[in-house]
Amino acid sequence: MNLPSCWSCQYTYSYKQAYVCTFAKTKCPSCGEKQYQSKRSKLNFGLIFLMAFIPLFIVRTFTAISFPAYIGMMLLLFFVVSFLLPFCYRFTEEQKSYF
Ligand SMILES: [Zn+2]
Repeated sequence: MNLPSCWSCQYTYSYKQAYVCTFAKTKCPSCGEKQYQSKRSKLNFGLIFLMAFIPLFIVRTFTAISFPAYIGMMLLLFFVVSFLLPFCYRFTEEQKSYF
């Protein structure tokens, strides 16, 4: 997995710059063009979340894990996933709707 780059000038984002894209729409720090998440990027998102949370639901269903421990695991997973997300971003020039 690589950090994303600008669709216009190929400027490669730093980890911190890419991480900010999780919470806000961004412009390229180099050329100022608006960046949108590509379809592929959103698909990666979904996959990462599924891979992280399906095992959690299985654990919850088949073991006698206590509820606070379950919530703890969930928070931990969320934390780990949010650190991986910047690596799956791919930017495109147009805003495409999710559906
Ligand atoms: Zn750029």
